[in-house]
Amino acid sequence: MSTSTPENDGSQDTDQGDPSNVTDDQWRERLTPQEYHVLREGGTEPAFTGEYTDNKAAGTYSCRACGAQLFTSDTKFDSQCGWPSFYEPLAKDSVIYIEDTSLGRTRTEVRCAACDGHLGHVFEGEGYGTPTDQRYCINSISVNFA
Ligand SMILES: [Zn+2]
Repeated sequence: MSTSTPENDGSQDTDQGDPSNVTDDQWRERLTPQEYHVLREGGTEPAFTGEYTDNKAAGTYSCRACGAQLFTSDTKFDSQCGWPSFYEPLAKDSVIYIEDTSLGRTRTEVRCAACDGHLGHVFEGEGYGTPTDQRYCINSISVNFA
């Protein structure tokens, strides 16, 4: 599917455009091997190793691959699970959900709606006492904090 766009030859436009059009090779260039493994291959960083697990500063968490804003510190809570945890995304349509049966049980994978990058999983009904009773368990390496 290569439709030509003569009015835009891309020479000035090094800054991508639609992140859903980025090829696998381009992601490999843009991301570190660790970022690529988590964001593009659905990997998981080891528990308690992520840089934002205990981050309590106020700010916004954006997709490390495409920059879309995903979560805010307002909804981050201390889950003790070893990964940054949020009880809801910044906006309903900022993330998408995919059923994941990879570990022999059904989990719900959370991806960036803009670039389809893997962020983590969402769990429900764990009794954390958050407003939604949901835990968005997000890899630090999938996001940037600002
Ligand atoms: Zn993204």
